[in-house]
Amino acid sequence: MPSDKKENVIIIGAGLAGLALANVLKHQGVSYKIFERDASPEDRTQGWSLSMHFCLLTLKTLMDPAKYATLGDKSAVDPENPRKGDFCLANGNTGEPLVTVGSDTYDSNVDVFRVNRKRFRSWLMEGIDVTWNKRIDHYTINDDGNGVQVTFTDGTVEEGSVIVGADGVNSQVCRQLIGEDEFKTTTVPNPLRILAASYWIDSELRQEIKENYSSAHMMAPSSISEEADHSTCLFVSLVDVDKSKEKPYEMLWSVSCLDKEEPHHETNQERLNQAKNWLKKSGCSGLLNRLVTGTPDDTEVVTLKIRERSPHSILDTFHGPVVLIGDALHSMTQFRGEGGNHAILDACLLGKELASLHKQEKGLKEAINTYYSEALPRGRKAVAESHEALNIVHGTRAQVFAMINGIAKSVEKMIEKMSQEDSSSAVETSKQ
Ligand SMILES: Cc1cc2nc3c(=O)[nH]c(=O)nc-3n(C[C@H](O)[C@H](O)[C@H](O)COP(=O)(O)OP(=O)(O)OC[C@H]3O[C@@H](n4cnc5c(N)ncnc54)[C@H](O)[C@@H]3O)c2cc1C
Repeated sequence: MPSDKKENVIIIGAGLAGLALANVLKHQGVSYKIFERDASPEDRTQGWSLSMHFCLLTLKTLMDPAKYATLGDKSAVDPENPRKGDFCLANGNTGEPLVTVGSDTYDSNVDVFRVNRKRFRSWLMEGIDVTWNKRIDHYTINDDGNGVQVTFTDGTVEEGSVIVGADGVNSQVCRQLIGEDEFKTTTVPNPLRILAASYWIDSELRQEIKENYSSAHMMAPSSISEEADHSTCLFVSLVDVDKSKEKPYEMLWSVSCLDKEEPHHETNQERLNQAKNWLKKSGCSGLLNRLVTGTPDDTEVVTLKIRERSPHSILDTFHGPVVLIGDALHSMTQFRGEGGNHAILDACLLGKELASLHKQEKGLKEAINTYYSEALPRGRKAVAESHEALNIVHGTRAQVFAMINGIAKSVEKMIEKMSQEDSSSAVETSKQ
């Protein structure tokens, strides 16, 4: 590992993308430093869960295998059943379950986990030395084009060979790279309104939800009539399990609709009433609706905002020492559950290229070009498809039902592809 500070890869942001990159670089013997604007890991609530699937095969091959082996036990929403990540699509109007994609569908070699976001991030952080309380102000590329200087808002400066912007949707690195005006024009707020909350439920309600829908997460769109232009979408997920509690299961719900006329409320109680009202207006009924109506009055109800940004065209030609990964590169809606998977896949693929650079097998331009030639088209497709998924889930009843039929098929295809890739990589490994 080079001892010269100027050889460090500088990672801005200790979210999923930045931490995954740090894990890959550490295992590949490339020196790095990772900086995060938050004062500590506890600074912000990370209170939801995520589906991790197509990024895991690549992550598994590039990071410490002993640490990877602990992923499920340490991060899964239900650590006692780490591989239980079933997803159910239900008819929100009748409460009837329509399609369930269960963990039993997956090949036992395929890693698919529903993870608790906070514990997943903590797992990624294990053995990674994050420098907290460091907000990037700007970077300067050295005159000869090799290396960068990064200035933080506290006035300190770090030098490195490459700066990686893993600083999320509001990325300061992206802002500087593409320019403030372009950043504002290409970062598009989605009009969807989302209210979300989580609270702990008892074993009886948990069992009812599990038996009728799924053990992990579920979605139930409802609309007032066949003719209505829009549906309201209710999403429910297990977030955590703590058997020492009287109510051992933390469940999250989010309710979303495309009604631009709906007011923005100040208090939790008003937002809770608003979410209940959106469901009532759309004719939502059944057990999942009851989960929302049964929310304790003192529960915090948050508003989630979505901003979308496709990878900028500047990146097709700029292959200098400033690179973007994750939401900083491509911000998408959560309605395909892919943003985090793309973020981690970016980190893995860039990490592999930076390892080649470090071993002097490739020059900087070639390494960055190789990374972007895969990441840019993949990111653009994902942003467009995730936008489309949001519109379909909140579309007419006919659109929603067409999607439900399509989703089961596409998930089956994805699982089939993942198990083929996994068995072919196992063959390659056994040949070595
Ligand atoms: C409700 C919801 C559900 C989702 N479900 C899924 C799912 O099931 N599956 C999936 O794959 N994806 C899902 N996603 C998307 C996923 O959460 C994101 O795509 C992922 O978190 C992106 O990771 P990131 O590291 O690029 O960005 P982030 O996680 O946003 O991390 C960026 C980090 O950079 C830091 N930072 C920001 N600015 C600065 C600065 N100036 N200086 C230093 N540090 C800075 C931030 O504090 C943060 O820690 C979901 C998203 C939402 C909102």
